[in-house]
Amino acid sequence: MSLIVQKYGGTSMGTPERIRNVARRVMRWKAKGHQIVVVVSAMSGETNRLIALAKDVSPQPDVRELDVMISTGEQVTIALLAMAIKDLGAKAKSYTGGQVRVLTDSTHTKARILEIDEGNIRRDLENDTVVIVAGFQGVDAEGNITTLGRGGSDTSGVALAAALKAEECQIYTDVDGVYTTDPRIVPEARKLDRITFEEMLEMASLGSKVLQIRSVEFAGKYQVKLRVLSSFEEEGKETLGTLITFEDDITMEQPIISGIAFTRDEAKLTMLGVPDKPGIAYQILGPVADANIDIDMIIQNVGHDGLADFSFTVSRGDFPRAFELLDKQIKPHVGARSVEGDDKICKVSAVGVGMRSHPGVASKMFRALAEEGINLLMISTSEIKISVVVDEKYVELAVRVLHKAFELDQVPA
Ligand code: ADP
Ligand code: ASP
Ligand code: MG
Repeated sequence: MSLIVQKYGGTSMGTPERIRNVARRVMRWKAKGHQIVVVVSAMSGETNRLIALAKDVSPQPDVRELDVMISTGEQVTIALLAMAIKDLGAKAKSYTGGQVRVLTDSTHTKARILEIDEGNIRRDLENDTVVIVAGFQGVDAEGNITTLGRGGSDTSGVALAAALKAEECQIYTDVDGVYTTDPRIVPEARKLDRITFEEMLEMASLGSKVLQIRSVEFAGKYQVKLRVLSSFEEEGKETLGTLITFEDDITMEQPIISGIAFTRDEAKLTMLGVPDKPGIAYQILGPVADANIDIDMIIQNVGHDGLADFSFTVSRGDFPRAFELLDKQIKPHVGARSVEGDDKICKVSAVGVGMRSHPGVASKMFRALAEEGINLLMISTSEIKISVVVDEKYVELAVRVLHKAFELDQVPA
């Protein structure tokens, strides 16, 4: 008998009927003889509603209290699912993150899981009980409730699968797998039967929210067999979704590009007229990092008369803080001329391990975008991805153009 962890997202848990549907699916897997641990998200829209409510009361809510509050969405769905499973005649028991003891660090609203106590879960499973765990939440060493960042239930699911050495972690969502790009933007996007772990890691970190990046990192670290599937497929018509594979498993030739990812969550800052001398990058970026603002792309333009321009990107939420820091503190300190900012930009990326052995991917990408008159504001590359920053009004066009240019709508020969 094997142990399976199933995670159901917000849309899958969005209505009473859907929750009963999840209960029926869990029962089918149980009937096959598996032990089942279920991780659930809050009903769709609930976490957004709670965050908006908090901000209505306090524009910059205290993060400890915010976590106490936004973790409640999952406390509702664990109990509802346990009720629905019991109504179908099985034993089921719900646990909050704190009750399991999903131990995290104390970084409220983006905590990291440190350890999971298996005791309660193992005991219940041995007693033929379906265990239902609230995703997205944990508890720190002092007993404070923490949350794991938006989309964090994926990470709860994979972390539990790793801790329990589950046979497989199944992520049930509202699409039937990982696609070549977001199928809501490009209807021609194609479902992938398999994607390498490395590519999934890049796709997730570059904006494909189908899996939270940390869940993919966890799967890599502990070699968890991870699969993305639809919770909406009818009994008897279920498909196998997308399997995240570790490269050794793959024997066939890889396509050059596997997918296009994008994120709207970007902003750019430029410091103009910076003295071009050693240590300047550190003087600009050091204080930004000290303020806990993550920096993504960085460009320094060779300037004239000993002056250079220095640009970098941050996530849009950090933009006001970063701008103020640059303008009020760093500019006078380094003696720069002025600071400019643009928070109407997006990042579009092509991802594929096949890029390693195929030159010319970048030029193909730039030509396709140029033919549509899309200006590239920044470029960054790694071994298996190329990212460009474009004006936000072009993001969907850029995604569609690249999807077509790399023939991702065609089944590879
Ligand atoms: P859940 O609530 O189940 O966690 P999410 O909304 O977080 O679901 O993630 C699923 C969504 O991710 C899909 O509805 C889809 O719009 C989006 N998505 C973005 N990129 C991709 C991709 N490459 N493949 C599949 N879905 C994607
Ligand atoms: N409910 C949380 C969110 O909306 C966690 C999750 O859905 O994964 O971000
Ligand atoms: Mg999600």
